[in-house]
Amino acid sequence: MSVARARIHALDTYDIRFPTSREHDGSDAMNPDPDYSAAYVVLRADGLDAAGRPLAGHGFAFTIGRGNEVQVAAIEALRAHVLGRDVDELCADPGSVSRALIGDSQLRWLGPEKGVMQMAIGAVVNAVWDLAGKRAGKPVWQLLADAEPEWLVGQIDFRYIADALTPDEALALLRAGREGAAERAALLREHGYPAYTTSPGWLGYSDEKLTRLAKQAVADGFTQIKLKVGADLSDDVRRFRAARAAVGPDLRIAVDANQRWNVPEAIEWVNALSEFEPYWIEEPTSPDDILGHAAVRRGVAPVKVATGEHVQNRIVFKQLLQAGAIDILQIDSARVAGVNENLAILLLAAKFGVPVCPHAGGVGLCELVQHLSMFDYVALTGTTEDRVIEYVDHLHEHFVDPVRMGAGAYLAPEAPGFSARMHDASIATYRYPDGTFWVEDLRQHEGV
Ligand SMILES: [Mg+2]
Repeated sequence: MSVARARIHALDTYDIRFPTSREHDGSDAMNPDPDYSAAYVVLRADGLDAAGRPLAGHGFAFTIGRGNEVQVAAIEALRAHVLGRDVDELCADPGSVSRALIGDSQLRWLGPEKGVMQMAIGAVVNAVWDLAGKRAGKPVWQLLADAEPEWLVGQIDFRYIADALTPDEALALLRAGREGAAERAALLREHGYPAYTTSPGWLGYSDEKLTRLAKQAVADGFTQIKLKVGADLSDDVRRFRAARAAVGPDLRIAVDANQRWNVPEAIEWVNALSEFEPYWIEEPTSPDDILGHAAVRRGVAPVKVATGEHVQNRIVFKQLLQAGAIDILQIDSARVAGVNENLAILLLAAKFGVPVCPHAGGVGLCELVQHLSMFDYVALTGTTEDRVIEYVDHLHEHFVDPVRMGAGAYLAPEAPGFSARMHDASIATYRYPDGTFWVEDLRQHEGV
C-alpha cells in the first residue's frame, strides 16, 4: 500500500494595502504618497506544521498601492507550476521551482527576469523557503547556514553570471565561509546583526519630527541613520544640518535620492551636501544605469555609492560590481526572484569584496532580509564590519514572527520559517478593497 505524499493543494493570493500615505510614512523624492502594500501569497500544503497548524508557506511582493492588483495577478499566473507539487521534493530543492518559474517561456516574455513577473517569482520562491524552514524546524538563516556548500551551489542559477562567478568559485567561498560558522552563530544569537534606521528621514516629516526621531535613534543604539534627499537642495541642507546637530559629528548619516537625478546633477547635489559628511548616497540615479553609477562614484568620492533595492536581477548586480560602480550593495528580499537569486548576489558581492547593506522597510522586508544577512555573516563572509541592515519601525505588528530589535541590532529569529506570515486579522482588515478598514474608508469618503 502506498502512503499518500503531501502536496501543495492551493495557492491563495491577497491584495493587502496599508494607508501609510496619510502620515507621509515612507515618503521620498520620487514616491510622495506610498500606501505600503503586499501582494501576499500562501502555498497551502497537506499536513500540519510543528505547531499543529495546517502546513503552509507564506511569501509576498512589496508594492506601494495602486498596482498591487497587477502584482497579485502576476503571482496568480504562476499557480500551475506549484499546484500538486510534492512537498518533500519541493523543500529538498527550492531551486527546482525557481528554475520552473523563471523558465516558463510564455511568462518570460514579460521580462526576462525583471519587473512584475520577477517579483511574483520572488514571492512564490520565498514562500517555498518559508515552507522548507518550517518543515526543517529552522529559521531560514539557519537552514541556509547549516546547508552543505555543494547543495547551496546547486540552488543557484549561474546563467549570465559565470563570467564573474563560476560554480567552483562559489563553492570555494561557501566552504571557506563554513570555518568558524558555529562560533559566529552563537555570537549572532547573543548580539544580533547591526542595523541602521531610516525612520527619522522621510521627506514629508517636519524638522521637529526629524530632530526628535534622530535623537531617539541614537538613544536606541543605532550607529547610522538615513535621510531622504533630492526634492529641494535648500531643504536638504536645512534638514541635514538639523540631523547632524541632533546626532553629533561621529554618527554615520546616509542619504537616499530614490533615483531622482541625472548623473551630473547627482554629483553636484551630493557635493553640495559634503560639509555634513554623508556616508553614502543611495540610488542617485536610474537603477539600470550602471555606467552612470560609476561616474557618480568617481564624482562624489569619498562619499560612497549604494544601490540595489530596484536592481532587477543578478545580472545587473554583476555589472555594477564589474564596472566598479558601487561601494555598497543593497539586496532586497522581494525585488529579485527570491532566496535563490539572492544567494547568487550575496556570492557575487563576496567575490568582489563589496559589503552588503540590505534594503528593508516597506511591508515585511525587514522580516525577510534579516535571514539573508545573518546567513551571510554566519556561513559566507563571516563579518558584519561596515554592514548594516536597514530598519524602519513600520507595520511589524502585522507579522506573526516580527523582527526583534536590541541595541541597534536585529536579534536572530528563532521560529522556523522565513518570518513571512501575517496575522489573519491584519489580512481581514487591510485586504483591498473588501477588508474592514477599506470598506469603512470608502463609506466615509462617499459620505454614506
Ligand atoms: Mg532607498
